[in-house]
Amino acid sequence: MSGVVTGASITQDVTLVCDVVIVGSGAGGAVLAAGLAARGVDVIVLEAGGAYTSADFDLDEGKAYAAMYQDCGTQSTDDLSIALLQGRSLGGSTTINWTTCYRTPARILAHWQKTHGLDQLTAEVLNPHWDAVEERLHITEWPEAMVNANNETILRGGRKLGWDVHTLKRNVNGCANSGYCGVGCPVNGKQAMHRTYIPDALAHGAGVYADISVERITWSGRRATGVDAVVLDRATNKPTGVKVRVDAKVVVSSAGALHGPALLLRSGLDGEGHVGKRTFIHPVCAVTGEYAHSIKPWSGAPQSAACHEFVDRGPDKIGFFIEAPPMQPMLGATGPKAFGTDMAMFMGQLEHASTLIALAVDGIHPEDPGGTVTLRPDGRPKLHYPTRPLLVEALREAHLRMAELHVAAGATRLTTLHAEPIAMMPDEIGRLADLPYGAHEHTMFSAHLMGGCGLGTVIDQEHRYKGLDNVFVVDGSALPTALGVNPSQTIYGLASRAVESISNAV
Ligand SMILES: Cc1cc2nc3c(=O)[nH]c(=O)nc-3n(C[C@H](O)[C@H](O)[C@H](O)COP(=O)(O)OP(=O)(O)OC[C@H]3O[C@@H](n4cnc5c(N)ncnc54)[C@H](O)[C@@H]3O)c2cc1C
Ligand code: SF4
Repeated sequence: MSGVVTGASITQDVTLVCDVVIVGSGAGGAVLAAGLAARGVDVIVLEAGGAYTSADFDLDEGKAYAAMYQDCGTQSTDDLSIALLQGRSLGGSTTINWTTCYRTPARILAHWQKTHGLDQLTAEVLNPHWDAVEERLHITEWPEAMVNANNETILRGGRKLGWDVHTLKRNVNGCANSGYCGVGCPVNGKQAMHRTYIPDALAHGAGVYADISVERITWSGRRATGVDAVVLDRATNKPTGVKVRVDAKVVVSSAGALHGPALLLRSGLDGEGHVGKRTFIHPVCAVTGEYAHSIKPWSGAPQSAACHEFVDRGPDKIGFFIEAPPMQPMLGATGPKAFGTDMAMFMGQLEHASTLIALAVDGIHPEDPGGTVTLRPDGRPKLHYPTRPLLVEALREAHLRMAELHVAAGATRLTTLHAEPIAMMPDEIGRLADLPYGAHEHTMFSAHLMGGCGLGTVIDQEHRYKGLDNVFVVDGSALPTALGVNPSQTIYGLASRAVESISNAV
């Protein structure tokens, strides 16, 4: 991408100087960089992943996951029970996300105010930021006539049951309805950060560097002095041996949940023991339905409908919301714990499969502290995320409700993603009540990594790390709880709001 400095072009150790260095170029880092640069602040963005454009996006899942996902798409919890999908390229997770956009729900903002003391994060304060983001990213309702058969399952089944279902907003402009958002949009329909706020930041003079991995924030007393980073060889993802030093008046971690907290921990900044704690993931479970009609779940806008009937199950339970993910062949094949003939059968009927996912809303219940990020011996993040009884109850209920939705939508057969997949006819879904749920019982994953540097705990309401005067955290790790909606727009809005306090700190 024009204007982006890549690692390959840096062949000698270098020291750069700026007002604000931002680590990470995703939802938080890109919006912040553009806002600061537009105010005349001298900004440098350092991104560990590579810089890619639509010319690189050829719909090849094998290439895309290896290039643009953390750990080539294999990132998971410490016990390998939950797969953790997270982006790693210029634009962060937005380059490969599925484009669903929501403002933060009012009940979540009210909960943050009451439970986490976040009285400044009101809808009145955030609305102007979301208005601006919606305009820049062209966030608009996806027309119901364009909803694909996979998502239509939610609308058809939900309406029959009288449940709260709706179509979704997406950050797209000129979407060709391919369904391949998860491997990079080949026609620039997706308004991801590498197409929008990163070019905006460049246009206002920001320095944007790809293939640069920040190892630590350097600091003394109550002030950070900058960051130490290494150049990565894009082909091997290994350091080339060349070092990059940035001296900055202000340091911002926008490295995302898991990797942001890890950066702070590597830097000796543990937030009095809070950094990495309260990490939330909207834990996901799934039920597949087989339909007589063709679904082709790999084709058409990846997520365009949702069911929020169970998102708030009262104070004693964990709620969940239901969506329908894309199922390209490789991604689809990671769902079932099947091998050999079983896998061949699953893939053989993929055209007729609709998969529903339920995303549990972790971190709201007072006895749900989520997971904890610590450091692996090599400095990478390690997430411990126990499936506690409260979550197990929600997973069971979610399976039952997804099965009911499938049956109402006309599924002819249902399959769970249990270690021994349970196949059921529509009149057999009562069997789900007695199955085991939780870690290693069935497939679980997350594409929504949140928390670990929570607002109100590790950082104050201005996003300032409480232990230092000039370090800020602006990304999904700042969220004090999960959201009950897809997180990108919340992060865009928070980053837009943080522009003012961070420019004042320069
Ligand atoms: C497959 C998938 C689908 C998704 N679909 C949706 C959706 O439809 N709607 C929605 O709202 N959300 C979705 N999300 C989630 C959403 O994209 C993320 O919540 C959001 O992008 C997080 O923003 P962030 O700024 O916290 O981090 P990211 O956007 O992940 O960006 C962080 C960046 O920091 C970089 N980085 C990390 N460590 C370092 C370091 N040490 N040095 C330099 N750089 C570093 C990373 O490489 C990464 O590029 C999806 C995510 C995935 C993975
Ligand atoms: S569905 Fe639309 S936005 Fe997503 S990759 Fe295809 S054309 Fe791009």
